[in-house]
Amino acid sequence: MIAIIAAAAACACALPLAACAPQEDEGSAYFITAEFDGGHTLTGKVQFDFFNDTDNALDSLKFNLWGNAFREGAASSPVSAAVRDKAYYNGLSYGGMEITAVEGGEWRVCGDDQNILEVSFGAPIYPDERASCTIEYTLTLADVNARTGVTAHTVNLGNFYPILCAYGQSGFLEYTYCATGDPFVSEVADYTVELTVPEEYIAAASAKPALTSGSGDKKTLRYELENARDFAMVLSTGFREISREAAGVEISYYYYDDQSAEKSLAAAAESMEYFCGKFGQYPYSSLAVVQTPFCQGGMEYPALTMISDECDESAKIYTIVHENAHQWWYAAVGSDQFAHGWQDEGLAEYSALMFFENAPTYGFTKAGLLGTATKAYRAYFSVYNQLFEGADTSMDRALNEFSGDYEYANVAYNKGLLLFDAVRGACGDDKFAAALRNYFSDYLFGIAPPEGLIAEFCKFADCEGIFTSFLEGKVII
Ligand SMILES: [Zn+2]
Repeated sequence: MIAIIAAAAACACALPLAACAPQEDEGSAYFITAEFDGGHTLTGKVQFDFFNDTDNALDSLKFNLWGNAFREGAASSPVSAAVRDKAYYNGLSYGGMEITAVEGGEWRVCGDDQNILEVSFGAPIYPDERASCTIEYTLTLADVNARTGVTAHTVNLGNFYPILCAYGQSGFLEYTYCATGDPFVSEVADYTVELTVPEEYIAAASAKPALTSGSGDKKTLRYELENARDFAMVLSTGFREISREAAGVEISYYYYDDQSAEKSLAAAAESMEYFCGKFGQYPYSSLAVVQTPFCQGGMEYPALTMISDECDESAKIYTIVHENAHQWWYAAVGSDQFAHGWQDEGLAEYSALMFFENAPTYGFTKAGLLGTATKAYRAYFSVYNQLFEGADTSMDRALNEFSGDYEYANVAYNKGLLLFDAVRGACGDDKFAAALRNYFSDYLFGIAPPEGLIAEFCKFADCEGIFTSFLEGKVII
């Protein structure tokens, strides 16, 4: 994600687990059918085929119900206080994600904030075994300019289905929604999505439709996407679409109000070429860059980025490139964004700097971007030092340990940018780029721990001390 300022229990029982059908792939798969009614309701069914690639026997699976953070009475707001009025453009509005039926096991909605669906199978799923369940749900959309919601121009369908929680060292990661940063951590799977919408809607999605069929005043779009850690869509009756191919990828820009749409598409295409050449080939066949009313600057999903229509020209270009960089650092190479937000945000910021350094026509310079980040960080530090008698400038903190967007933007984004510039200084340009290429190939489709990223650079230069001084908050900027 990027802030605009940064550019600058119910229970049911069903059949026991049907497991162990051998499949070619050692991976999990989602088969999602969803119908949007043209108003505020999406009715969906997720058939989830799970492959246990952990080292543990699992009695249950846990899914995150991100859409439930939009319900009335939710403990964790999906929108930060700083942007609440802008987000709830019609006044406060509520939605939610209700589970209506589960086949395959006993189920309950639990978690700290009714954010987790647990499906228990009654028998362990051993490592390398498969299990499956089918989840039926209703997603009610709030009127909100957020990742999931109905806006004045679009229907934003990020996090629109129950998604398996990533598996960490001590079990499934049951993160709650956090208004600051991106709390989403998930592992790659194969997706088949069938979306039915009223005929007049144009859908931008994490894939191009493989098949479109219509009956009456509805149409159904079928999508397939392999090795993705999420799938997102944005719908609108007013989208215009322009496309261009870059690095063998079909890049489409969906917009409703952009006087310089070709320039927006060019920034997406040129940064695609640059990042593919610098880090490694983008792993999907399409990328949708989508203009939408959004309370932050932008948001990344695999093969789809949301770009706020409130960005001015330069913030728009910057945001397109920053979110595009997340296709490498978040989508292809995952990380625990809740626990270590600096990891993908710092890299996305620094990757954007690298692109602009090599594409001067966009008007951003390396010195300018470093100068802006340094100035903003010093201003934050000065204010926080006075307010709190010693600002906590450590970087490796969980999202809910930041006081809000301002602190997070300065510590994860601005200080993150400065961290990777210091590492580049220690490595030299060629070794720095080689370390990023190795990081990409070593962790493609995985979830990289911070130590994994740090080790890639330390193979080339002694930069452990740089990471330690930045992450622990000891460096003076
Ligand atoms: Zn970001």
